[in-house]
Amino acid sequence: MKYLSTRGDRTERHFCDILLEGLAPDGGLYLPTSYPQVDSALLARWRGLSYADLAVEILSLYIDDIPADDLKALVRRTYTEAVFGSPQITPLKPLEEDLALVALSNGPTLAFKDMAMQLLGQLFEYELGRRGETLNILGATSGDTGSAAEYAMRGKAGIQVFMLSPNGRMSPFQQAQMFSLQDANIHNLALDGVFDDCQDIVKAVSNDLDFKRRYRIGTVNSINWARLLAQVVYYFAAFFQATRRDDQRVSFTVPSGNFGNVCAGHVARMMGLPIERLVVATNENDVLDEFFRTGVYRPRGAAQTLETSSPSMDISKASNFERFVFDLLDRDGNRVRQLFGEQLATQGFFALTEAERARISERFGFSSGRSTHADRLATIRLCHQRYGHVIDTHTADGLKVALEQRQPGVPMLVLETALPAKFAATIEEALGLVPPRPAALADLESRPKRVQVLPVSVEQIKQFITTHV
Ligand SMILES: *Cc1c(COP(=O)(O)O)cnc(C)c1O
Repeated sequence: MKYLSTRGDRTERHFCDILLEGLAPDGGLYLPTSYPQVDSALLARWRGLSYADLAVEILSLYIDDIPADDLKALVRRTYTEAVFGSPQITPLKPLEEDLALVALSNGPTLAFKDMAMQLLGQLFEYELGRRGETLNILGATSGDTGSAAEYAMRGKAGIQVFMLSPNGRMSPFQQAQMFSLQDANIHNLALDGVFDDCQDIVKAVSNDLDFKRRYRIGTVNSINWARLLAQVVYYFAAFFQATRRDDQRVSFTVPSGNFGNVCAGHVARMMGLPIERLVVATNENDVLDEFFRTGVYRPRGAAQTLETSSPSMDISKASNFERFVFDLLDRDGNRVRQLFGEQLATQGFFALTEAERARISERFGFSSGRSTHADRLATIRLCHQRYGHVIDTHTADGLKVALEQRQPGVPMLVLETALPAKFAATIEEALGLVPPRPAALADLESRPKRVQVLPVSVEQIKQFITTHV
């Protein structure tokens, strides 16, 4: 399998060439040159596989530059009951007939990002070892991504992580999760500023090409193709659990921010998995809902991005979205460059033609909905009273929209993107109770913390890195 860029660059690249990369050199995102197709015979063969073996089958279709035995070993090391808490790895939690949650959040940091990040840790260590190289991962986080990255990379040979976060602004649980890591290769840097300050520093350091090369700076952000590919697997795993026949159709609702999770569903559908609808659920930051309703994409500045009670979906610009638009426009790299490279830059938005817009639901099965803080509280209460399940705020955004959009006879599967323990304050507001947490994390907040507080200064961050590599 080879990879191309959404903006037209067709330089030949294989999986490991793009594994450690972010954007393509022309500013686009990487996608496979075609989607491998599955038919009902193949689905029937995959139905009985364990999660890890299903992942090996799917990943092998996209990875031709890692020997099969090596790939199998590293995938089997990743998706274990010990790490993800159950033999199914992503079990369904049925709510009622034709409605279920897909439990994606039982990994080490209690959010679905572990599903991809844990694999990325194994892939990075393997590939760096093979090349005899090292990597220093620099990231900014407001919560879920940073902790998932740290738990995936802790103790990995050849890798150090420098994770910037806004001092005092993450939830106590999230801070404790990151700062309690004692691994020598994990560096928590709490900056006296806001999340955008942290992100600006990552950009400034990455744009200093000399520094970047000299200190082998890399990232693990959500545009990484390997992360997206890892997420394709659980759409298949959920389908097998929800159906008895390989031609039955199911729908998914996906709480969305950067469009990575639902884009993996799009890839699964393009491969031939019988998905009826992919429903994009947003919170009050509804840039994507606006696009799927109107065909107009209007990313917002940081100043117009609201702080909500589903904070991991508080994004202004959906960084993976260009991948879907590339497919929507029949993979016309010139048109994508026009829309994302030119129109967004000059006028701040773009609008599809009527014909292009019609294809969103007709050919690609997408629809969308939005949810507010009041909806979130109401849905958390409804789910608790009606089904006896405590769900987190992001999953509540998904369930709210799923209940509006499900169709008779089509199982609706809602992706559970985090556990409620991570967002305790809103759960208490909704239910008047402290959400349950896994027993192993009972004493999390009282563990010793390893964190360095620094000012918002590019120079001081660079200096910290140079003295710790
Ligand atoms: C990251 C995240 C999301 C958004 O996922 P995207 O892939 O960015 O669309 C939703 N919910 C939770 C809990 C998250 O951590």
